[in-house]
Amino acid sequence: MILKLIGIVVIMLGVWKLLGGKLPSFKLQSKDDKKLDNDTLVECETCGLFVTAKEAIIAKGKYYCSLECANK
Ligand SMILES: [Zn+2]
Repeated sequence: MILKLIGIVVIMLGVWKLLGGKLPSFKLQSKDDKKLDNDTLVECETCGLFVTAKEAIIAKGKYYCSLECANK
């Protein structure tokens, strides 16, 4: 009985890893995206200065502290 239950759990974990292996990381990424909207510090690609995500300028998928750095 117990062995059967363990077997079922192992099989479910295997199926979950095969089907939903990417699900947890996807959830974490969406959480990170939400955090980035607030006060998460991001590094400027040009000068290395840290600015909050809401103050940062996003260009070409990268963060910059100012338009000056973004255009370099
Ligand atoms: Zn900069």
